[in-house]
Amino acid sequence: MPYKKFEEYNIQITDDVRERYKNIIKDLGEDTERDGLLKTPERAAKAMQFLTQGYHQDPIKVLKSAMFKESYNEMVIVKDIELYSLCEHHLLPFFGKAHIAYIPNGHIVGLSKLPRIVDIFSRRLQVQERLTEQILDCINDTLKPQGVAVVIEASHMCMMMRGVQKQNSITTTSGFRGQFEKIETRNEFLKLIGK
Ligand SMILES: [Zn+2]
Repeated sequence: MPYKKFEEYNIQITDDVRERYKNIIKDLGEDTERDGLLKTPERAAKAMQFLTQGYHQDPIKVLKSAMFKESYNEMVIVKDIELYSLCEHHLLPFFGKAHIAYIPNGHIVGLSKLPRIVDIFSRRLQVQERLTEQILDCINDTLKPQGVAVVIEASHMCMMMRGVQKQNSITTTSGFRGQFEKIETRNEFLKLIGK
C-alpha cells in the first residue's frame, strides 16, 4: 500500500474555531461570502490545530521510546534543526534554527528524536526563552546526560511585520546544564556550531 499522508482534526473544535474565524474576518472588514474566502475559516481552523498539536504530544515518551545503553561519552551535536513556532503574545510565527548537544551518561538517544521534541514544544503558543528551557529540561530530566546545551536563533514576525519593523534582527537564546556550564565545554560546542 502506498504511503498516505493522514491528518486528523477534531470536528467539534474545527466547527467552533471556524465560526469564530468567520467573525474575525468579518470584523476586519472583509466579505466572508467572497469566493476566495468561503473555505478560509475552515482552513485556518485546521491550520491552527496543526500548529498547536504539540499540546497533545508527550516529548518524554518520544525520547524514552529511543534510548539505548551505550558507553560513548563524547559530545553529540545535532545542529540546524528547523523550527517553526507561534509567539504567544501576537499569534504570529517565529522561525529559525535550534542547535542541540549532549554528553551521554550511559545512554544515547535516537538522533531523529531531538528534532521531534523541538517540533513538539514548538507547536504550541510559545516565547523563545521558554521553548529553549523546555527542550533543555526535557532532555536533561529524561536522558540524564552529563550535560546538555540548546541554542535557538529565530526571526519573529511580530517584530518584522509590525511594531519596530526590524526585518533583519535575529533573537538568540541559549541554555546549558551539567558539563556545559564549564566554559571550555560550552566554547567547544559553540565553536562546532559556528558561533
Ligand atoms: Zn510576538
